[in-house]
Amino acid sequence: MCVAQAYFARVNRITIAVDGFSSCGKSTLAKQLAGHLGYTYIDSGAMYRAVALYVMENGLVKDGKLDREGLLRVMDGIDIRFQHDPLANKSVTTLNGRNVEERIRSMEVSNHVTLVSPVPEVRAKLVKLQQAFGREKGVVMDGRDIGTVVFPDAEVKLYMTARPEVRAQRRYQELKGKGAEVEYASVLENIRQRDLDDTTRKADPLTKAPDAFEIDNSDITAEEQFVKALDIVLEVLARVGQE
Ligand code: C5P
Repeated sequence: MCVAQAYFARVNRITIAVDGFSSCGKSTLAKQLAGHLGYTYIDSGAMYRAVALYVMENGLVKDGKLDREGLLRVMDGIDIRFQHDPLANKSVTTLNGRNVEERIRSMEVSNHVTLVSPVPEVRAKLVKLQQAFGREKGVVMDGRDIGTVVFPDAEVKLYMTARPEVRAQRRYQELKGKGAEVEYASVLENIRQRDLDDTTRKADPLTKAPDAFEIDNSDITAEEQFVKALDIVLEVLARVGQE
């Protein structure tokens, strides 16, 4: 990106929504774009994961079922934030003041998150927080309903897909790289289940916004995907600059 484009991005701050299926590289792309444009990156999935961790740790899941009434009673006491961790020099997710960044990425949390994400009261609370994070614009947020519900007026909407087997392989490598004890088959099963849960739930299901650009990254590298996405963003920025 040239100096003039970088200047444009800062002066004409826009909102970039990155939606798509589980483990299809949304956060990698969103972080790259945010870093490049000098924007803030927000991982909305981390917030649903933090709620899932809360219910797991507070006896609100019994026999694999969510104690929904119990969750609704304690909702106001669930405090989720993003804070800068000076040691790791990165933003981390906190749950009631505790750094849960590593914990929320576990398979256990992945297997519980779609118990809480369909609950309308959970979504209402998190969507409100997400909208507050984006009030100043200059934000790249990834999730499932960012371009459809959280920021329906986002200037750029990207919709990411990839074949489930490709996504599972990438996620499996990532978890293995962190030393996790996982099987490829269970990662694939989790991805298939979450695809189904996320696209069929009643409240704010994952769906492609009519004005979103679709990127299938099954057969392209992260770098190629970034170039594609940045082209789209720069085109929009040039247009916004002329308005
Ligand atoms: O993006 P990630 O895979 O971390 O998201 C975890 C889960 O959180 C998703 O499977 C989905 O159920 C939920 N989610 C959501 N809406 C978002 C972001 C995530 O329902 N905007």
